[in-house]
Amino acid sequence: METKFFALYARVSTEEQSGSIVSQLQRLNEYLRYKGENLPILIYKEERSGKDTNRPEYQRLLSDIRAKKIHAVICTEISRISRSIIDFHYFLEALQENSVNFVSLKENFNTSTPIGKFMFSISACLAQFEREQISERTSLNMRARARRGLFNGGYADRKGILDIDEDEARIVCMIYEKYLEIGSYCQVVDYLNNKGYRTRKGKKWAKSPIYRMLRNPVYIGKTKADGKIVPSAFPGLITGEKWNAVQGLMDGNHLIRGNFYETSTYRFGGLLYCVSCSCFLESSWSLGRKGKQYYYYRHPSKGKKLCSLGSLPAKEIDEELCCEIARYLDDPELIQMVNEGIAKRLCADWGKREGELIAIKKEIESISLETLELSKKIYLFGEQHIKSIIAPRFDDLGERKSQLLARLQELESIPNEQVDPKDAKNLAKFLSDEFTKMPMADQKKVIRRFVERVDIQEDYSVVAYLRTLCLETQKTPCIDGASVLLLIPR
Ligand SMILES: [Zn+2]
Repeated sequence: METKFFALYARVSTEEQSGSIVSQLQRLNEYLRYKGENLPILIYKEERSGKDTNRPEYQRLLSDIRAKKIHAVICTEISRISRSIIDFHYFLEALQENSVNFVSLKENFNTSTPIGKFMFSISACLAQFEREQISERTSLNMRARARRGLFNGGYADRKGILDIDEDEARIVCMIYEKYLEIGSYCQVVDYLNNKGYRTRKGKKWAKSPIYRMLRNPVYIGKTKADGKIVPSAFPGLITGEKWNAVQGLMDGNHLIRGNFYETSTYRFGGLLYCVSCSCFLESSWSLGRKGKQYYYYRHPSKGKKLCSLGSLPAKEIDEELCCEIARYLDDPELIQMVNEGIAKRLCADWGKREGELIAIKKEIESISLETLELSKKIYLFGEQHIKSIIAPRFDDLGERKSQLLARLQELESIPNEQVDPKDAKNLAKFLSDEFTKMPMADQKKVIRRFVERVDIQEDYSVVAYLRTLCLETQKTPCIDGASVLLLIPR
């Protein structure tokens, strides 16, 4: 077998002096010495900032990982590897694919421990949003390119220019006109689908592409760059006046019509539930005296209101609930939940181990008995029989016994893994920090992954039902009755 290396990764830190590369490497070496590890080491000294993964030493590390040269990557803290949880998750994935362990000293994070595995599943969950967003953005981009007359394929057409597709251009114009006529893009979607219009892939139209189409300056021959709308090289399909009219209508409408995914207001939209009336609250807004907009959660206008609950100020509620959720992630209750989940799994493993241990001990005992019987027979049958009958059996038994003893030793050396409460605490801290750092729109998506429903009682007390984080499968968090009591301001 080829020798594997410990990879020590150190990166400059612009913020603090103490995190210099030399002292980082010192700490990493001390850690290895303390652990009594004696594999050879490879050192990666990064002189670049961690804002992206476009760093020479980081890339060298990745290629060494893929070349299966690395046993484990060790760094002083996770932020040395990456400042973004998404990049960090990709990094963990690369490690997992190549069976490389990862240790970060500050967070006491080790992927070979149960808490490390749990951490991996959380990072997968968070990274999933980003991936979904990117794929949505990419497909929209490709459509936009196509509409602009640009070729989406490889490099066959180097100029990237195709003729405008007349049929599709006609549909785009119609969508703009219909929107001005109806004033609701959701109804435009219904109109298109009812009239039998289909997307390029022959599917029914969905809301979000239509919304983006109506918002896209590409159709007036312009493009968005750094948040500004600038002229593009391609002719538009829609007049500037029509496009502006649509934008104005949409600006006024999008709050009323509640396109919650396009705006970061109402982070808990659709999740708040009035217990007395058994209904979900709606998001709504109103204009103040000076034209300022106020956002509310309130009872739906249809249906009977049975409680005394008034309109709830959305901004305050959101802030408070987000704070509570961040706090909850840093809460002993969650840690206990994590511990229980891990303990349950470990119990199963441990039970299997116990079963095997008992079976092995039994078999060793019976081998000893048979060996004893055979030795007795030597006296009875005499020397000439030993070679032909007894000796082979003796050899078999001896071999089986040494196999069993080896397995026994292996099983007995498995540590009974316990979750270190300190690990859980650090994990919780990391999670709540990551959550509060996310943009509002992302927080909103995270909330929908973690929160099943938020019950509001008539006395304004709130119970949020959280989805239990599933430890076994990373893809579908299972829904369970984990709940947390929160208080919201009146
Ligand atoms: Zn109510």
